[in-house]
Amino acid sequence: MPELPEMENYKKLLTEKIAEKTIMNAMIKREKSINVPIKTFQQQVHSQKIISIERRAKHLLFHLENGYILLLHLMLGGWMYYGNEEDKPDRSIQVELYFGDNSLYFIGLRLGYLHLFTKKEVDSELSDLGPEPLDINFSLNAFQDLTKGKKGKLKTTLVDQKFLAGIGNCYSDEICFEAQLLPTRTMNNLNDQEVVQLYHAIRSVLPTATEHGGYMENPLFTNDQKTGGVSNFLKVYDREGESCKRCGATILFKEVSSRKCFYCTGCQH
Ligand SMILES: [Zn+2]
Repeated sequence: MPELPEMENYKKLLTEKIAEKTIMNAMIKREKSINVPIKTFQQQVHSQKIISIERRAKHLLFHLENGYILLLHLMLGGWMYYGNEEDKPDRSIQVELYFGDNSLYFIGLRLGYLHLFTKKEVDSELSDLGPEPLDINFSLNAFQDLTKGKKGKLKTTLVDQKFLAGIGNCYSDEICFEAQLLPTRTMNNLNDQEVVQLYHAIRSVLPTATEHGGYMENPLFTNDQKTGGVSNFLKVYDREGESCKRCGATILFKEVSSRKCFYCTGCQH
């Protein structure tokens, strides 16, 4: 499932492509991917300019001229492509936003969705989310406060969207590796220095992954050189049996609270 870096990458690239562009039409091939009747959806987005694209946690928010917001969550298996009839992928498309020359295609939206909301509705939808880890106000102090009284394992706490927004299976492992902490440790058993290490790991892994374009497999458009670039830089995720890039020990895999978890016992403690 795409996490903060993947969605941030999409946000940056899509802003270059469709900000200030007008939606000429919306084609809905799967009604369950939206939250209102197809007609209502089409009427509200028709002739609307995309004012801006914002990311919150693993969501993208497409702000329309009329104040409505398209709230996207790709969930597991969802992705996007920006292009035209000739170069679009040969995959089933659930929603298409047509901009006159190119379209934005939403693919693999099974669990994922593109919902039409007012600002108030979006605020309510997202009200349970924890702080954004890359927010300028998310200081070490703020993180220390957040961790106080937390008893869960690092793995389950980091992926908890109410604790911090935007981290999932991949980057929780990468963050623990960077902090040299085992994901099976519990939060309340970290000492002060380890909490500091965890904070700095969060603040370095997520922006670095974003800079490398995240891990989505498919390009966003023809000649997209950015998307998916992080795959070669991942240090533990999906590397079971390979050797650790830091200490040479073998990367291990196990399920922690039914979540995939990759780590190195050679250099994570
Ligand atoms: Zn290691």
